[in-house]
Amino acid sequence: MASKKKDIALQIIISNQEQWEESLSSKGLLVVDVYQAWCGPCKTAVSLFRKIKNELGDDLLQFAVAEADSIDALEKYRGKCEPTFLFFGGGELVAVVRGVNAPLLQKTIIDQLEAEKNVLNQGLERKVVKDEALLVEEEETSPIPAQVEDDELLPSGKSYTVAIIKPDAVAHGKADEIIMKIQEAGFEILANEEKTMTESEVRDFYQHRAGEEKFQELIQFMSSGPCHVLIISKSGEEDVIPAWREFIGPTDVEVAKTEKPESLRAQYGTEILYNAVHGSNDTEQASRELAFFFPTFKQQHQHTDESVFMSPERTLALIRPEVLRGRKDEVLQCIQEAGFSIAMQKEVMLSEQQVKEFYQEHVNEDYYPALQQQMTSGPILALALVKDNAVKLWRNALGPTKITEAINEAPDSLRARFTPSEGAINQLHGSSSPVSAEKEINFFFPVEHTLAAIKPDAMEEHRDEIMERIQGAGFTISQIKETNLSQEMAEEFYKEHKGKPFYEQLVEYMCRGPCLMMTLSKENAVQEWRSLMGPTDPTEAQTAAPDSLRSLFAKSILENAVHGASNINHATEKIQFIFGDIDLDGHISWTSNETSTQNTTKDIQQNEERNETTALPGNEEESVQDDS
Ligand code: ATP
Ligand code: MG
Repeated sequence: MASKKKDIALQIIISNQEQWEESLSSKGLLVVDVYQAWCGPCKTAVSLFRKIKNELGDDLLQFAVAEADSIDALEKYRGKCEPTFLFFGGGELVAVVRGVNAPLLQKTIIDQLEAEKNVLNQGLERKVVKDEALLVEEEETSPIPAQVEDDELLPSGKSYTVAIIKPDAVAHGKADEIIMKIQEAGFEILANEEKTMTESEVRDFYQHRAGEEKFQELIQFMSSGPCHVLIISKSGEEDVIPAWREFIGPTDVEVAKTEKPESLRAQYGTEILYNAVHGSNDTEQASRELAFFFPTFKQQHQHTDESVFMSPERTLALIRPEVLRGRKDEVLQCIQEAGFSIAMQKEVMLSEQQVKEFYQEHVNEDYYPALQQQMTSGPILALALVKDNAVKLWRNALGPTKITEAINEAPDSLRARFTPSEGAINQLHGSSSPVSAEKEINFFFPVEHTLAAIKPDAMEEHRDEIMERIQGAGFTISQIKETNLSQEMAEEFYKEHKGKPFYEQLVEYMCRGPCLMMTLSKENAVQEWRSLMGPTDPTEAQTAAPDSLRSLFAKSILENAVHGASNINHATEKIQFIFGDIDLDGHISWTSNETSTQNTTKDIQQNEERNETTALPGNEEESVQDDS
């Protein structure tokens, strides 16, 4: 039987200046989550804090939440969308952490508690800090440099636009529905901030419309209540702006209703002013709006060219079989020393067909047969490398294409250092341009669908936090339903483990209560979801991946909070088992308790013909042809 845990108040709620002063006068270390009324306190941090509190069980450690808007002392923190945690020792500021960086929060709590104890017990001097980001802002009015997660938020080589779900649609309770429709149409939502704009913000934002007759009305309307500000992109779309404008429809709702009845404005707008959604007109405007709402992104990612908004670039690197066999670690070390981070990696065995597809443009060259021979002679390692200007820098690091040239002219280059046996093709590849980099990355790391589940124990206590982490990590949830597994279903679901000593317990555990079943979609989703979950055993997770879901939420190796398919075939099989025959590339649906029964025969056929060695989904067509 699952016991319902009592929800003891972990955090003191500070809601005015008086309470603020009172809280600060208490002894020990106080960790305050400073939050904004429109986004609420950080739920993700709560479980981490609870875990730390339980482990340390120390009365000198206290947690609090404080709303910036209602406490004078927090004036400087108003309007910041990034979570901010202030650490006070004996009422004085001793540390600041921005962003939900679990390992950093944990370390800061432990270190500061220790330091505070030294102050209290040994009379050491307390090290007081000033919040530097705020000082900088005061002096130069420059935005706070973002510290975490930004790199992930905006992968490069894609275009972005700002979209706003306006106050009318939000007030009518349509925000969630619109967000679903946006995702359903294949747009990715990279950020979603709920925000009530002030009149002066609206004035600034719409300055290009200042001359218009209805400007005052526009200001009133846009500042009348919360809106959702989104950053949107679309994979496979060079420029997301026209796609987005097409999707929202004409500005005038009446025109939209007659000409584009399926557009968002036709469906949710009521008149020209109250037209439910906003989209940037062009790249330049998008870039300006992005900077307006998300200034920290601007600082870190916007290149000097005003019209281009890009995060650190990505490039594809390949390590070919001969070098991979003996010198993989050495190459990886060189990559890291050169300052690239590895966003994704995958070891694969390519078929001749796949090599042909990858090297389409080279098929008729006289070196092609040798290239193909080399590329199919063993596993290769594909890497998505991230760094500002990654494409060019990685090519520089590689050196000349021809090995003899590399050896003679650039002996320090990677191709010269990692030389293959005589006459062979160079052993390292790099994309030739940002556009081809994205294409090549997409070839090796296509969008995948995986099956994820929140297991019965975690449903009670951690469901919201887990959902937040899933969205924060950029997964699209394409299917979702709550399911009570019957004993037979649980047995089938985990049939791979039949006969193992924990099998019966596992089945019993999975049937204890409802599970939340989901299909998650993302580049490299199977592996990415497994990394977010962390190792099966929470004790291992706590050391190997302290920020992972199982590190934070699993109770034991059995009751480990979440499930994820272990490979692409497994994912396909389990998605079909739970959701039936669905077309994941086209539709998103919320299913109740029945199994959904959408199309398609193509999918079933593909699923049957998928085979383990073709580790690259998206190439099924080729493998099918291969067989025939
Ligand atoms: P899952 O398949 O649930 O995503 P996993 O792939 O990390 O997890 P598996 O090896 O497939 O781990 O095990 C399936 C589940 O069986 C685990 O999630 C856990 O609930 C349970 N389990 C695995 N090993 C043990 C064990 N040694 N003792 C008890 N339960 C275990
Ligand atoms: Mg498993």
